[in-house]
Amino acid sequence: MKINDKRNSLTKHKSKTYRTRSISEIKNIAIHHSATTSGSAEAFARYHVNQLDWPGIAYHYVVNKDGSIDFCHDHKVISYHVGNSNRRSIGICMVGDFRSQMLEKVQKEATLELVKKLLNELNLTVDDVWGHVEFPGYSWKPCPSISMEQFRASLMDGEVTPVEAVSSDSNHREILTRGDSGADVKELQEKLKDLGYDPGPIDGIYGPLTVDAVERFQRSARIGVDGVVGPETRHALSNYKPSSNQIEHGAPSDEPDEREEQFSGEGRRLLRFIKPMIRGDDDKEVQEKVGALADGIFGPETEKRVMEFQRNNNLTVDGIVGPLTWKALDRKNNNQPLYTRLLSLQNPMMRGDDVKNVQKALNIQADGIYGPITENAVRNFQRKEGINIDGIVGPQTWDRLF
Ligand SMILES: [Zn+2]
Repeated sequence: MKINDKRNSLTKHKSKTYRTRSISEIKNIAIHHSATTSGSAEAFARYHVNQLDWPGIAYHYVVNKDGSIDFCHDHKVISYHVGNSNRRSIGICMVGDFRSQMLEKVQKEATLELVKKLLNELNLTVDDVWGHVEFPGYSWKPCPSISMEQFRASLMDGEVTPVEAVSSDSNHREILTRGDSGADVKELQEKLKDLGYDPGPIDGIYGPLTVDAVERFQRSARIGVDGVVGPETRHALSNYKPSSNQIEHGAPSDEPDEREEQFSGEGRRLLRFIKPMIRGDDDKEVQEKVGALADGIFGPETEKRVMEFQRNNNLTVDGIVGPLTWKALDRKNNNQPLYTRLLSLQNPMMRGDDVKNVQKALNIQADGIYGPITENAVRNFQRKEGINIDGIVGPQTWDRLF
């Protein structure tokens, strides 16, 4: 187990500090995911301090995808990660968004190992290890979006079971595919329907409509699209929360929002209209870009122009120049198109100027409709760039394209 001590190196609030407790007050270990497809202790700390105005990073530990572990707070620190239960809990965050990504074996094993060590040190039991969602008041929160039963079972086993090992009693086949029929197919169809991927009649027959529904599900879950239900799709089906886009911010216990995290503007001040008014060259820079009088003072006129700019760029219209707005302003400067949403092959197909920009960058016919040809061209581009080949334009692919 590789633990990096980052207790003194992560961003901390200038004036605020977390309160502390005695070790005997710790009763739970809380498991989180970052709800971001990538990230690091450094990035989370910046976000929690600079954007949420918290004393420091939310978590005591961050487990990275490669299995390395970052130690962020002494155990006696009461950081913000599970609201009313903060005082009794230690927070462990696994980097990743397990609503759409798989928890990889190496990361799961590292987390299990860390939890075992902590249980030992803190004299707690496996039953004290809870997912964020299992804490009082958080049943609505898709965190950490893995099966906690399975996680606790792995802790007890003493050996690590791969996360995709889904229970396979005799009535349930590991793989379901076109032509199969039976109770397990019917169950699958019901599940698809519940999640909003209508497979047609619930008849227990894996026909073309079921294939189509599975493919649509796979596409939105961002896993390989083959219309076959294997371990990955099964895992995604049991963890998928269709309403996960409407997560509210419930400070002081929230995770970083995916969009903001990916754009955390390094070293830029957050600018807004407050009294006394903020002054500086950065204000002037904003004013020049949004077309306000460039006097270097962030007043109501500047706020109004910023809001206009935000409206035109599909940003949250709040008049505050935070990381996303900074990013958009920087793009404007370079005449680069702005990333605003994930683009993928969907039914109905996605349309828009952003699709058109992607097509132009790929040198294919720019009709502004994200169809199979566009998806294929994106895959080829991703292959050439040596990045994850999924046919989906997310922030990484967008950045490579422009
Ligand atoms: Zn959480």
